Amino acid sequence: MTNKVYKGIGSSEGISVAKVFILKEEKIVIVDAKSKDPKAEIAKYESAMAKTKDDLVKLKATTLEKLGAEKAEIFEAHLSILEDPAIGEGILDLINNSQYSASKAIHEVTGNFVTMFEAMDDDYFRERAADVKDISERLLKHALGLKIIDLAAINEEVVIVADDLTPSQTAQLNPKLVKGFACNVGGRTSHAAIMARSLEIPAVLGLKDILHSVKEKDIVAMDGLTGEIEINPKDKKVWEKKAAAFATQKQELKKFINAPTVTKDGFKDFILAANIGSPNDVENVLSHGGEAIGLFRSEFLYMDNSNWPTEEEQFTSYKKVVDLMKGKPTIIRTLDIGGDKKLSYFEFPHEENPFLGYRAIRFTMDRKEIFRTQLRALLRASAFGPLGIMFPMIATVDEFKAAKAFTLECKAELEKEGVKVGKDLEIGMMIEIPAAAVIADKFAKYADFFSVGTNDLIQYTMAADRMSEKVSYLYQPYLPSILNLLKLTIDGAHKHGKWVGMCGEMAGEPEAVPLLMGLGLDEFSMSATSIPRARSIMSKLTLKETQELAAKALECETSEEVLNLVRKTIK
Ligand code: PEP
Ligand code: MG
Repeated sequence: MTNKVYKGIGSSEGISVAKVFILKEEKIVIVDAKSKDPKAEIAKYESAMAKTKDDLVKLKATTLEKLGAEKAEIFEAHLSILEDPAIGEGILDLINNSQYSASKAIHEVTGNFVTMFEAMDDDYFRERAADVKDISERLLKHALGLKIIDLAAINEEVVIVADDLTPSQTAQLNPKLVKGFACNVGGRTSHAAIMARSLEIPAVLGLKDILHSVKEKDIVAMDGLTGEIEINPKDKKVWEKKAAAFATQKQELKKFINAPTVTKDGFKDFILAANIGSPNDVENVLSHGGEAIGLFRSEFLYMDNSNWPTEEEQFTSYKKVVDLMKGKPTIIRTLDIGGDKKLSYFEFPHEENPFLGYRAIRFTMDRKEIFRTQLRALLRASAFGPLGIMFPMIATVDEFKAAKAFTLECKAELEKEGVKVGKDLEIGMMIEIPAAAVIADKFAKYADFFSVGTNDLIQYTMAADRMSEKVSYLYQPYLPSILNLLKLTIDGAHKHGKWVGMCGEMAGEPEAVPLLMGLGLDEFSMSATSIPRARSIMSKLTLKETQELAAKALECETSEEVLNLVRKTIK
């Protein structure tokens, strides 16, 4: 059997070696685009709808049982997408008025929604296109009478190799038998990856062409952390050793879920927080030992709606998070919309460079009625627990002062109406534009805290698009230029007694944690599942050695030099 090696994106950690299960589905081909019999097409569409609904209800129940309420909500969301009148009416309109066949009409209407989501700037929302695609495929297969492969029927240990796994397919996987999956497409923020992490099934995504190179009876060995795959491994012992080391490490990390966050020399002030996109994510934060929410991306509420969310809708959502956190702090970011993050109910003006244009705080300060609604909801929620309001994309001190003044104006307005606002409310800002990082000390006079958005800070510092594979060699968190900006930010805040968090992806990277500790970062906000590992890294290092590491790293010339220093320290 031929041996082959692949490298993809490690999306859910774990080591597996098992027989391949090739998931090649029947291709959806729409032969009859038009039909002269709208009644028959409507009947086909309605029957496909009923079958799809039935599948989703069953999937929701299985997921609830296997993965809990939070993950089951994905299928509740799928059901509401399926029942969205905009989709149903669009399909019926094409069948009735344009003589489309049921399958062509489904394809056309759902396709438009997918295109809209895919055009968005944020990974999270672009991945939601996968949800619409998932529903669309199920509907189309039922309409065309195609077979839907039942992954729940797998009865031996396998590694699934597929082009892509939809969330509904992922939910059917039995972790006792499905030892891992490897897909041509996808990345760390796709729903399949998120669910794989919950199910603790190793996953490697973004492999580009693995599906076409595996054959029946091949053996797949995979490392879900590094993204390495070996088909028909030459030396099984190497993989057995890796698996044993991983099992030991996993056991070790469990101890860090409920352990205190403390360095080897007893420093206890670092806070390990998590990023969320909806109140449903809180359960996962708490079950992984999160001490705070460092970033709630509030744009989720706006993009998931068919109109601007009302003050009441927003209040309910923000309060839910604060309530669930039971006294632990929550930082909610105000609407970060614009650029490629679009809303179905609002047309942004055309710009040559939307990433550098009318977006985030620039938009909300221009559309004060929209901003006021959100601020009132946030301020009201602050009465129920410790809450921080954070503004995205702040570039100038004037901009921050104006946004803060407007927030305080809304607060005064509420108090005049007799509505309670939290006494300990904090008002802070993201540091994601280099202009703010270099004079962070000036901002720190007015802001209660900073949270560094390295996802954007790196792209604006390096003039390298965070989405572009072609310039990804420039998009590096360990560049001394980035580390020096972080130092300016942290020192600037501390000079005025303010705290600094980081909610960009860098905060949870194992190599970044020691550097950030040494630079004096106060709060590390990451995906919930990364928390135990970060806590374990902290426990193995003294503050002094991380400070020495950071001082040396700031003097380096390249990111390789920085990474070499870090690796020496971790070992
Ligand atoms: C960031 O820029 O680092 C950040 C956390 O915000 P987003 O990824 O939502 O742009
Ligand atoms: Mg950002």
